[in-house]
Amino acid sequence: VAEQEISFFFPTECTLAVIKPDTSEELREEILVEVGAAGFTISEQKEMVFSREMAEEFYKQLTDKPFFNQLLDYMCRGPCTMLILSKENAVEEWRTMMGPADPSKAKETAPGSLRARFAKDILENIVHGSSSSQHAQEKIQLIFREISSESQVISTGNDDEPNP
Ligand code: GDP
Repeated sequence: VAEQEISFFFPTECTLAVIKPDTSEELREEILVEVGAAGFTISEQKEMVFSREMAEEFYKQLTDKPFFNQLLDYMCRGPCTMLILSKENAVEEWRTMMGPADPSKAKETAPGSLRARFAKDILENIVHGSSSSQHAQEKIQLIFREISSESQVISTGNDDEPNP
């Protein structure tokens, strides 16, 4: 009952955020600092390399897009940092913090956003965020609960656990 009362006054929402491959260690740290400063709680964190199969599942809504294969190549190229972020209105707030997919558009409409400042181009745009609460639940399930044996987990972000 107490928990329900607390969530009534401070409703938190979860979203899945991904720092995409080829992001330097320095930039990754900067993003994590900004995430904290923006009031998000990092509920879970891990580094993982997508298998092709898992990346296909992750982006299944985009199967018909002409850039689908390019997107899979990019996402499977190296380790991603996977984050479960919680905060009131987390889905929308993280999307606002990312900015639009295309950095040239982001620079015009959201100059302070992560993509405006750090994205290379419309494909290599450094961060991902779920577009709805339902998608967030699905992707969190996929990434954190049903990890395929073909995707390589590098670290769980928990210092107490030895890396696999
Ligand atoms: P997001 O939700 O803001 O990430 O955008 P989308 O769901 O539309 O696209 C998913 C990802 O596909 C983007 O973050 C980009 O990495 C990539 N992408 C989106 N649009 C394009 C495009 O027009 N060309 C290419 N090459 N990649 C794109």
